[in-house]
Amino acid sequence: MEQSDSQYAQAKLAQLKMDYQVDVLADWGDGEGAWQTGTWSKAELDKLDSAIALIAGIMGGGDKFVRHIGGVTVRKADIGSHGGEALAHRVSLSTKGTFSSWTVVHEFAHAWDANHGWKLSRQLEKYTGGFTSPFLSLMKRMVRLSDSGFLNPEQKPGRFGRRPGCNRAGYFYGDRPSGSNWSFNRVEDFAESVAMYIGWERGNDLSNWAEARIKRYLLENGASDKNFGVDNWTDYAKYFYPDGGDYTKTKRWQFVDDLVNARIVVS
Ligand SMILES: [Zn+2]
Repeated sequence: MEQSDSQYAQAKLAQLKMDYQVDVLADWGDGEGAWQTGTWSKAELDKLDSAIALIAGIMGGGDKFVRHIGGVTVRKADIGSHGGEALAHRVSLSTKGTFSSWTVVHEFAHAWDANHGWKLSRQLEKYTGGFTSPFLSLMKRMVRLSDSGFLNPEQKPGRFGRRPGCNRAGYFYGDRPSGSNWSFNRVEDFAESVAMYIGWERGNDLSNWAEARIKRYLLENGASDKNFGVDNWTDYAKYFYPDGGDYTKTKRWQFVDDLVNARIVVS
């Protein structure tokens, strides 16, 4: 943060607190006689604010956002190779490089789930017809129905571990998520489903990425996607490409829609 932007930043922090109960831990300010720029930029504060506004928008406003998520502290931290991390009431964004609007929404979705004892992702799993079984996952790998190695994904097209149950968690996703990898589980499914719901055909900061996540399955096997690399896209279409390419036809879209419109009771 440049010193010339410090007043703007201070006002933005106050607004985030007031509108959403979001506290940003400032790592900039007057140090010992010298201005400390920290890792945040003015543009990042704006990006954070816009992404939070998108979430609040689908929830029906700032009051509902606060009721669902219950206050969050956002900080920059060294969190290894991850872009972000979240627990109830705490979102961490990596100090390495910047973050995307998608990452903000994904992490706030985790915070939302965590604030409900991770029950939202359990409800999503059930609603979409999925289940988690490390045992069946192991069986699937033993009889070579897996698109991964026995204990790990392989770093080549068609072997990254994307089929149902072919992941570390033994998560057999139901219906059609927008993608899956070795780290996929019900919690990641919920966060990605929220981001897809918010981005899908709404012309916002998440929309291009949401569209790209679906369109990649129209590629040929072995084709290279500029965002997602090389994979056997055609083979995976049956797991991930929604009916007619319309993500609103998926159970995940419907689940989030039901959730934000209070057609699902959250305990
Ligand atoms: Zn995540």
